[in-house]
Amino acid sequence: MTNKNLTDRWNVSIQNNYGTPGIALVKGKGVVVKDSDGKQYLDFLAGIATNILGHAHPAIVKAVSGQIATLNHVSNFYAHPNAINLAEKLVEMTGDKNAKVFFCQSGAEANEAALKLSRRTGRLKIVAAQGAFHGRTMGALSLTGQPAKREPFLPLIKGVKHVPFGDIGAMRKAVTKKTAMVIIEPIMGEAGVVVPPVDYLKQVRAICNDKGALLVVDAVQTGMGRTGDWFGYEYSGITPDVITLAKGLGGGLPLGAMIAIGTAADLFQPGDHGSTFGGNPVTTAAALAAIKFIESKSILNKVEKQGSFLMQELAMIPGVKEVRGAGLLLGIELEILKASDVTNALREIGILVNAANESTIRIAPALIVTDAQIKKFISSLKKVMVNAK
Ligand SMILES: *Cc1c(COP(=O)(O)O)cnc(C)c1O
Repeated sequence: MTNKNLTDRWNVSIQNNYGTPGIALVKGKGVVVKDSDGKQYLDFLAGIATNILGHAHPAIVKAVSGQIATLNHVSNFYAHPNAINLAEKLVEMTGDKNAKVFFCQSGAEANEAALKLSRRTGRLKIVAAQGAFHGRTMGALSLTGQPAKREPFLPLIKGVKHVPFGDIGAMRKAVTKKTAMVIIEPIMGEAGVVVPPVDYLKQVRAICNDKGALLVVDAVQTGMGRTGDWFGYEYSGITPDVITLAKGLGGGLPLGAMIAIGTAADLFQPGDHGSTFGGNPVTTAAALAAIKFIESKSILNKVEKQGSFLMQELAMIPGVKEVRGAGLLLGIELEILKASDVTNALREIGILVNAANESTIRIAPALIVTDAQIKKFISSLKKVMVNAK
């Protein structure tokens, strides 16, 4: 099996919604992965911010293999300690003990759940941000503020207004007493790692309080330690009504969650919502193992320090216009070069990243990435930028 062979077969049997990948990955350990031609890469994308402990981490392997050897899926007709332990842990992480969790498998589903929850307020209107990404299912796509992704699938759910991200005046004008929820990413990941003004979330919180609208923080990409905090909004001092999670939550396994806080925690009644695989014992075991490891090794602290170092060093590379983000979710905006060209050149020399948009490279390595691997990434990007001139 070669890259060529596998990508040719992909073309034949897998639908063309992604485009054809250039390589096939077959093995990984920590932050290093190998393709099917045997070439090694430093994985600075981590399955798009999912593999928070990298590949084949002993803690994840042990938790998953132990659970799968003990009990598979049980459905929500029965309770299981892993889902309960994880829910209790997530509630603790919000800092508000009056929170309750709904489990699902993906970010889109977590946001669908939030959307349905908001309908239980009796209100119908929603405010979201232009450029925001909240998922691809019809409800989540209605929240997503990217016309190219929406337009082929119109009509979507009515009553969603998209306002410019970071513009508090526009937000104030859009939110009324009919607004069920406002949904915001702490940092817009898919849009190119876009960071709002520092007091934005606090002001959005105040507007939601004033109008009685739920504030939903979509922490699907910023969550699980990636920014140096658990969810990515903590710096603002706010408490959201709802937090949605997926990507990193399952430590590389498919797991999503919608955490509702305070009165929002009791909006769903029996029969209102569900997911067959929600709270699966194996995926929740992986999440618990990942959280435990992150806590026991003070990983959040490390992530914050590495983020600051990366920001400082990357910003000094000739041809880099700006570095945005927090912790290990960074967008590197290029002055002239195309992000896709630099991404390809990096892949050639053994580094995986992605082009979040035409001019921005996104990096989101595993949270266990070492200082040496970070230095290697910085010197590799420097090399590529110099050679491209
Ligand atoms: C990736 C992402 C989603 C969608 O998650 P899926 O698991 O692909 O459905 C939603 N919101 C944000 C902020 C994301 O980054």
